[in-house]
Amino acid sequence: MSDDLTYLGGKLRLFVEAALGQGARVVIEEGQAHYVLHVMRAKAGDRLSLFNGSDGEWLAEVSETAKRTCTVECTQQIAPQSQVPDVWLVFAPVKKTPADYLTQKATELGVRVLQPVITRRTIVTRVNTERMRANAVEAAEQSGRVSVPEIREPLGFDKLLAAWPVERRILFCDEGGDAAPIAEALQKAPRGSWAVFTGPEGGFDPAERALLRSLPLVTPVSLGARILRADTAALAALAVWQSVCGDWH
Ligand code: SAH
Repeated sequence: MSDDLTYLGGKLRLFVEAALGQGARVVIEEGQAHYVLHVMRAKAGDRLSLFNGSDGEWLAEVSETAKRTCTVECTQQIAPQSQVPDVWLVFAPVKKTPADYLTQKATELGVRVLQPVITRRTIVTRVNTERMRANAVEAAEQSGRVSVPEIREPLGFDKLLAAWPVERRILFCDEGGDAAPIAEALQKAPRGSWAVFTGPEGGFDPAERALLRSLPLVTPVSLGARILRADTAALAALAVWQSVCGDWH
């Protein structure tokens, strides 16, 4: 009797780069093969599910196993390709919370893009985007998404804003105290593409705040009277955005 790995102790879902479709055969290798073969102890006939960010999610059956690889065959599509709502997280990386923690949580919260930004007061200037990508894949697998967020290389504040896409609104988390409450601001704001924007431990410097507030596509918002750690603010703002503008309905 083959075990259905997609339900055995929770879903075994794997993100793969390969094209998926009826009868498509995918060779699972390296770390993923180790996990399937030696952690999940998959045998021929067992089933799991695959997604690749463009072909939806496919049930697949293990057709053969070798020491370091296993081959699976797509048998039926179990979810169409779908996109998460169009929200990015632009965040100044902070010391105490590794960016890959924030990546995991933001992935679960349905961001499309994670863009680290280096502001004047950002202490952390190096970000391990490879680790972030691995965390994004893992969080996407666990959360049931059929897409993995894009992890971009860090950019300086001025450079990022100089090249900012004109149609994407910025939800500027401004702890300065005179911004509108986030839920009210979002309820009144136009729908469309957004980016949550949070600063470093030391906050944005006056010139950065002035530049952000000068841009018509920026909506400064308050997350209440308490000062939140940057990662708390990012996740809280994403939660409110999903609830008011996103897919939490
Ligand atoms: N300058 C602050 C610390 C900044 S907190 C201080 O007085 O210590 C790091 C970032 O989290 C801020 O730049 C802002 O983007 C966000 N943030 C924290 N608390 C917030 C709040 N109550 N409202 C809006 N944004 C907040």
